[in-house]
Amino acid sequence: MSLGGKVAVVTGGGRGIGRAIATVLAGRGAAVSVWDLSSEGAEETAAAIRAAGGTAIALAGDAADAAAVAAAATRTRSELGPVAILVNNAGVTAYEPFTSITEESWDRMIRINLKGPFLVTKELVTDMLEAGWGRIVNISSSSAQTGAPAMSHYVASKGGVIGLTKALAIEYADKGITVNHVPPGFIDTPLVREGPVDVDAVAATMPMKRAGRPEDVAYAVAYLASEGAGYVTGQTLSTNGGRYLL
Ligand code: NAD
Repeated sequence: MSLGGKVAVVTGGGRGIGRAIATVLAGRGAAVSVWDLSSEGAEETAAAIRAAGGTAIALAGDAADAAAVAAAATRTRSELGPVAILVNNAGVTAYEPFTSITEESWDRMIRINLKGPFLVTKELVTDMLEAGWGRIVNISSSSAQTGAPAMSHYVASKGGVIGLTKALAIEYADKGITVNHVPPGFIDTPLVREGPVDVDAVAATMPMKRAGRPEDVAYAVAYLASEGAGYVTGQTLSTNGGRYLL
């Protein structure tokens, strides 16, 4: 499952699941462009990859802003080459009962979690179309499979990501480009630690009696990014420790 010679972009690669994805892809030989709002986070990830002998650059910017996306794409192409693998991972969450959700909060969720993948994919899929080869992996959420209380904006945004995945999978099926999504279950990351959830208590309710690790998601992404996954498109590869069974 070598990814040698491929250039990968990982949005939100500055910490959590995105950092693990960037690290695993680089470990398999991909040259990784780590995009994140946080320049420090992105640089930390890229520096760790380089220290381990891999190739990575760090780019700071908002993956839901068209101008920032275009600038990051230009730098990625000039420093690493055309992009073959895209992982749309950047995302935010919030816990708000439905009637408390403001229009502003709704718009922010949809902008970052759904419009971001639209903008980044639109920018980078041109490289894949030109090469006749590409892998797009979207990080969705198990909450869009099960529903979840006080997260209707988040769940709606991730449901949109699943729809986008299916539509693009069909649109690009005969172009050498696969498009799949990975819905993580309950993964122990800074995002989860910053929320109101008691991580250990929730982990104890999981079938495996533990939260997922960012690497659990990263290995699924690495498979979908590989040559060997070339006949897999429009699919769901759940990484949830058995929390939800399709
Ligand atoms: P995290 O908050 O720990 O990391 C997310 C990273 O994305 C951060 O470094 C942040 O700076 C970056 N980011 C956020 N908005 C951005 C933007 N507009 N542009 C560029 N970078 C941006 O989160 P995580 O837990 O690692 O989650 C990663 C993805 O996995 C998200 O899409 C999240 O919705 C999804 N997810 C996580 C879980 C979980 O249990 N942790 C479960 C299901 C889905």
